[in-house]
Amino acid sequence: MNPKINVYLNKLQHNTEVLVKQCYDAGIDVAAVTKVFCGKPEIAETIVKGGVKYLADSRIENLAKMKELPLEKILLRLPMISRAKETVQFADISLNSELETIEALNDAALELGQPHKVILMMDLGDLREGIFDNEELHRALKRIKELQNIKVVGIGTNLTCYGGVIPDDENLGRLLETAKLIEAELGYPVEMISGGNSSSIYLLEKQGMLKGINHLRLGESIVLGYETAYGERIPNTFDDAFQLVAEIIEIKEKPSIPIGTIGRDAFGNVPEFEDKGKQRRAILAVGKQDFGTHSIIPLDTEIEILGGSSDHLIIDLTHCRREYKVGDEVTFNLTYGSLLALMTSEYIYKNCIK
Ligand SMILES: *Cc1c(COP(=O)(O)O)cnc(C)c1O
Repeated sequence: MNPKINVYLNKLQHNTEVLVKQCYDAGIDVAAVTKVFCGKPEIAETIVKGGVKYLADSRIENLAKMKELPLEKILLRLPMISRAKETVQFADISLNSELETIEALNDAALELGQPHKVILMMDLGDLREGIFDNEELHRALKRIKELQNIKVVGIGTNLTCYGGVIPDDENLGRLLETAKLIEAELGYPVEMISGGNSSSIYLLEKQGMLKGINHLRLGESIVLGYETAYGERIPNTFDDAFQLVAEIIEIKEKPSIPIGTIGRDAFGNVPEFEDKGKQRRAILAVGKQDFGTHSIIPLDTEIEILGGSSDHLIIDLTHCRREYKVGDEVTFNLTYGSLLALMTSEYIYKNCIK
């Protein structure tokens, strides 16, 4: 059924195994980040087979879908106080930076009779989430010590997300320093030092990860085989474990410039055109409602994407050697943005292939 995403589970398992091995050799446990595929259990199960130690997602709904899978679950996005109870119910561990929220989690944990673990997030300069100054940290720790149902199991940071800051020995060194400080204050060791996401992978390949960092949260590197600090391919991984397949619903010879006075397109922009003479053009039954404005990459490199609207994608087949006809399928590789959008679209059939 089209349009669909083909998910090649064997490729995904291979990618997971490669990254888990690379991390294991450096003394690092891997939490697989499942948000890009909306925590779909069949896909998560494959990643579990690949040897990761935790499953992590930014959304409680996705963690709930994966509740049958036997690994500890981590909630990545800072919890909402209004949903503290669900957080404790579906996440064994959550990332936190606000004392009020940790207090709410403590209350929820008491109510549910289920202690909750937290990883304290430190902002090392990327300016998304995390405690920024040591004063605040001291104040928070003083209070956290009194909370009976909360255990601090780790300290973490998130980089290269908002500010584009790249992890290095300097900022990760500060994370290790802070971990020591927290241990001294709490009087017990923090087990997990979570040194970031797929942007930390390049350190493993280049100079080696700073000793003491023992945990990473990996999404894009597992699903697409890319490290995200410099956008490089990770050796011996697949970048095509997920592919979009869309179907041709029209093929016609048409001019390359619209005929008539040009106003606005379906999204309110005034379009511009270059005269390339007559083109052999096709329409695919997929559109911006499915992948937004993110890039998709046709496997047939002779196809050029011309544009589209909410539910149509227009492509140029003029230079294709292959003879396409109506009803044929066109396959695309994906970027993180388009994969995320397509997996979220309810109009895209998710076709897991063993
Ligand atoms: C999404 C997310 C990750 C995973 O990022 P990738 O770049 O896909 O590896 C890790 N940590 C947090 C807190 C996240 O929100």
